[in-house]
Amino acid sequence: MKCDALSKLLPGSQVYRPQTTSYVDRIKSYFSVSAALEPWCIVLPPATEDVSIVMKTLTAHQCPFGIQSGGHGLFPGANSVRNGVTIDLGNMNTTTYDIESKTASIQPGCRWKWVFETLAKYGVAVTGGRDSDVGAGGFILGGGNSFWSASHGWACDNVANFEVVLADGSIIQANAKENVDLWTALKGGSGNLGIVTRFDIKERG
Ligand SMILES: Cc1cc2nc3c(=O)[nH]c(=O)nc-3n(C[C@H](O)[C@H](O)[C@H](O)COP(=O)(O)OP(=O)(O)OC[C@H]3O[C@@H](n4cnc5c(N)ncnc54)[C@H](O)[C@@H]3O)c2cc1C
Repeated sequence: MKCDALSKLLPGSQVYRPQTTSYVDRIKSYFSVSAALEPWCIVLPPATEDVSIVMKTLTAHQCPFGIQSGGHGLFPGANSVRNGVTIDLGNMNTTTYDIESKTASIQPGCRWKWVFETLAKYGVAVTGGRDSDVGAGGFILGGGNSFWSASHGWACDNVANFEVVLADGSIIQANAKENVDLWTALKGGSGNLGIVTRFDIKERG
């Protein structure tokens, strides 16, 4: 029923059901077989507004859910759920760079190799992952020990702004001026405080 509701409300999103090729492929995308639980369905929202609809729908149904970005969490329950729905951010995988503000905007489903490939075109980098396949979402929200951490701190220390979808579906920004408590708490807060749909990070200089 929850999966039917998601399919109806999210025509632009993909909702994958068990025993389909797409579903099995996403289950295979987990780094750890222990973490690769099989949910009722997997929803892949393409944009922040769709994540908001997913959150409103799941909370209205009091439906358990997991959040997956790059899928490198190792233990069962880290990033998926057996009796519930997995929100897979794998289709939100774009990185952009603003030359004027020297800020990279990174979606959570990016793997670090994609982030660095994009930034290399501008001759810049950020305090990102050391393993090219790890996802930006879990890495930054868990702290993030980068090759540049000795000089520039944890990856999370360099986040100027988080775009976040809260449990009630509202879309907010958390930075040094707005929602400052959340901005601070997300620096190591993992998936406990909302779904982060964009990280704005200063280039490492
Ligand atoms: C081979 C390998 C190499 C690694 N190398 C390093 C390293 O060099 N430095 C380092 O610091 N760590 C490293 N790690 C650890 C890695 O950073 C963490 O496992 C990280 O959580 C993986 O992020 P992910 O997005 O790939 O994983 P996921 O499993 O998708 O996410 C991890 C956790 O974050 C939550 N989460 C993910 N995205 C969001 C989001 N957008 N909003 C809210 N919650 C979210 C998930 O629910 C889950 O609990 C490594 C891990 C592996 C397996």
